[in-house]
Amino acid sequence: RLHPREVAEAYLERARRHAHLGAFLALNERVLEEAERVDREAPLAGLPVAVKDNLVTRDLPTTAGSRLLEGFFAPYEATAVRRLKEAGALVLGKTNLDEFAMGSSTEHSAFFPARNPFDPSRTPGGSSGGSAAAVSADLAPLALGSDTGGSIRQPAAYCGVYGLKPTYGRVSRYGLIAYASSLDQVGPLARSVRDLALLMDVLAGEDPLDATSLSAPSRFQKALEEPLPPLRLGVVKEALEGNTEGVSRALEGFLEVMGRLGARVKEVSWPGLSLALNAYYILAPAEASSNLARYDGTLFGVRKGGVEETRALFGLEAKRRILVGTFVLSSGYYEAFYGRAQAFRARLKREALALFSDLDALVLPTTPTPAFPLGAMKDPLAMYRQDLYTVAANLTGLPALSVPAGFEGGLPVGVQLMGPPLSDEALLRVALAFE
Ligand code: GLN
Repeated sequence: RLHPREVAEAYLERARRHAHLGAFLALNERVLEEAERVDREAPLAGLPVAVKDNLVTRDLPTTAGSRLLEGFFAPYEATAVRRLKEAGALVLGKTNLDEFAMGSSTEHSAFFPARNPFDPSRTPGGSSGGSAAAVSADLAPLALGSDTGGSIRQPAAYCGVYGLKPTYGRVSRYGLIAYASSLDQVGPLARSVRDLALLMDVLAGEDPLDATSLSAPSRFQKALEEPLPPLRLGVVKEALEGNTEGVSRALEGFLEVMGRLGARVKEVSWPGLSLALNAYYILAPAEASSNLARYDGTLFGVRKGGVEETRALFGLEAKRRILVGTFVLSSGYYEAFYGRAQAFRARLKREALALFSDLDALVLPTTPTPAFPLGAMKDPLAMYRQDLYTVAANLTGLPALSVPAGFEGGLPVGVQLMGPPLSDEALLRVALAFE
């Protein structure tokens, strides 16, 4: 059995040798000392975990991929990080992301883009692109990400790993730098279903510091030992067109395997799905414009002359979101945009819950295409369209899991499972049967 120090050393060395992937913004130079002190009886004893750099850490800098937070050390630890450490895990480093988690490619990182290990000229996805690249290239066995509109699942799909966006509230958001608070959720990325479960059993649980956290007991690893119940799966009709051939093939392949395992598969309609993207790109910027207001150089954000100089440090995409968000919330436009998007959000959830009255899970692609080349998405709206199938889970709060399901032209593609509230464990059980 290796000593935790040897494991940490090997991963640190690998991460350094693969610096060209741009996966890490900071490595934990003290990880070897920390490894010496690990309690070897702890459930995650010595397990190195890469942490997305929008989760605050006391001993490592937290930038959220922004110039505004360069050199920032938080005076406290995010609950997700604290729980991992208390279980014996080691933080290997902080991973690259789009500024304030706004983006689908990591190209909006203020520092450098992350790269896809399967083809470094392509994006690993975003915004948790650094976490996905790190897990995919085995620079870390496991990683934490955050998912507001797909930021765990889309990079997981692009990099051929598993990524879970838990039911809203299952993992505490305390210490997650807020993007759109009603949509944000922390979750794991891993190379196997069992690894996801290992992390979720430690991460999930009520937190007095996050009023939206749920008290549901977590039984992830236990659930994986149980036999697969007779499954009723619904393929979402609205997600079957406009995908690349490889994505369609992966979806068919997934359904075929599930059918052979005894699942009953039927096509279902989720009419709201086609409008989810429109609603998301109203609601997420609205909340973002409010959450980013605190970076004025007084309490938060580097002090650089006056407020204007500090706020000028925001990158283009963050500025765009602040403008859109302020607009849709402004008097005279509020009802037409924000109000309608909120009403639609409620409808989308009603539709989903009705579908789950006789289904265990919905199945749809994670993304319409595999990873695109860096620099290829000049039009921000084209980039937003990569989120077509992922935003619905955030708008409804439902759990969703991206499963590696095949390749197209040497690039991984993912299939997404979405379930009723608190079916996180059940989704992992389904994915394990496919694995
Ligand atoms: N790509 C989406 C956005 O830009 C989702 C990002 C996320 O989930 N953090 O808002």
